[in-house]
Amino acid sequence: MRIPCPFCGLRDLREFTYLGDATVERPDPDGADALARFVEYVYVRDNPAGPHREFWYHGSGCQSWLVVIRDTRSHEILGAEPASRAMVSP
Ligand SMILES: [Zn+2]
Repeated sequence: MRIPCPFCGLRDLREFTYLGDATVERPDPDGADALARFVEYVYVRDNPAGPHREFWYHGSGCQSWLVVIRDTRSHEILGAEPASRAMVSP
């Protein structure tokens, strides 16, 4: 599997580390139901079949955090962008 790093180009998977689901949002720690929301945030995950947004870290390259769109059925990489940009786009 190869990941198209937006800074380094197409690179081998072994240069990256998977860091988790990029579709969940960290709960407000000051919220009234913070404990229940953190339990769900940490332990409850969907298991989607198809394109999925994931955080990856390019540790053996530019050391950037990325959001990679990967098809969980085929492992095909459908896109990658810097996580900082992905977090502000809808
Ligand atoms: Zn890179």
